[in-house]
Amino acid sequence: MIEANNPNLRSWIDVPADSDFPIQNLPFGIFKPSGGSPRVGVAIGEHVLDLKTLHVLGYLENLPFSQADFDNSTLNDLMRHGKKGSRELRNRISKLLRSDVPYLRDKEHHVQQVLHKQSEVELLMPVKVGDYTDFYSSRDHATNIGKMLRDPNNALMPNWLHLPVAYHGRASSIVVSGTPTIRPCGQTRPNDDEPPVFGPSKLLDFELEMAFITFEGKPLGERISTSEADDYIFGMVIFNDWSARDIQKWEYVPLGPFLAKNFNSVISPWVVTLDALEPFRCTNEKQSPEVLPYLQFSGDKGLDINLEVLIQPNGGNESRVCLSNYKFMYWNMNQQLAHHTVNGCNIHAGDMMASGTISGPTKDSFGSMMELSWRGQTPVVLNDGSERKFLHDGDTVVMRGWSEKDGVRVGFGEVRSKIEPARV
Ligand code: CA
Repeated sequence: MIEANNPNLRSWIDVPADSDFPIQNLPFGIFKPSGGSPRVGVAIGEHVLDLKTLHVLGYLENLPFSQADFDNSTLNDLMRHGKKGSRELRNRISKLLRSDVPYLRDKEHHVQQVLHKQSEVELLMPVKVGDYTDFYSSRDHATNIGKMLRDPNNALMPNWLHLPVAYHGRASSIVVSGTPTIRPCGQTRPNDDEPPVFGPSKLLDFELEMAFITFEGKPLGERISTSEADDYIFGMVIFNDWSARDIQKWEYVPLGPFLAKNFNSVISPWVVTLDALEPFRCTNEKQSPEVLPYLQFSGDKGLDINLEVLIQPNGGNESRVCLSNYKFMYWNMNQQLAHHTVNGCNIHAGDMMASGTISGPTKDSFGSMMELSWRGQTPVVLNDGSERKFLHDGDTVVMRGWSEKDGVRVGFGEVRSKIEPARV
């Protein structure tokens, strides 16, 4: 077991029982204290630990990191130290925060300098995303979409069970939780017998996804195998891949998603390390037909992460519209990374690989309005009695994720974004 994951550990910092950030989590992010510059932080309970100041005070000595790694507006430089470095760093922080270790605990003047209340700081985009890839790895999602748009009796494309389908997306429009989403304008063809029209999307949708962030990979031309993949994955975030279904329907043939996707994608601010998620490993659905040797793997490579989506109408309360789980994925991250690099494609520290919409087998676990309302045929009813086929201006979409085992809850916090009217 990774030392920092021990369920018996407790911190001298008070952590509420329902917190996503106990001492067993210690996710990394970028924050800006009031009056200060952006820097690397770690979430603990309702606080943020300031690694820039912690390093200045000498608590991170004998680790392979420099001051510049923490006095930084992204995690990319920190991630260049790879799995070994980030694991040593997390273990050191765990030790400093343990209730039975007095080293930092008893130095009150230092504690005041390194701890900030999360509510009093600004959480920023944690990484500079170099390249972004979106997979399509939930079988239930791919089946639902195939049933609606293709053939109900032949929903999956012939390649789907043989490789993790994906497309290269746009990195520049990935933003952090709290950033509003402006309803996109674009070209659609509402009537198949008439010419296309231009205007605001009428079918704005969310997609419930998770994304993993990579360490520096191998040189161009070399592969990362499924058994090596864990060493190239830094951590995960929740990912809302906003989608304009009417723009998508008209534009996607034959090269795939473009303007229907790249106007905005929103992520949660804390990167939960793959190390912190190890206790929540589980098996995924058995793959049949058997996959090619380069996609085979050993051990449990799924993750049991509860995921929920809530819609909050303007001025109203949240209604949960979806409860799904990352364990419903058909293709795991190891297979995705092995497939991504099997042709020699290289990856860099800070690349982001999203899962694709994570739908489960039941109707209440579908990860998009497209599926929840079945293309608008069965509207979703919110707690205030209002109905949604797709999303309205003023709606806020909230996504949360968390794992629980042995009395330990490791969570991701939330992704939140409010829809603003189109700029016509
Ligand atoms: Ca997507």
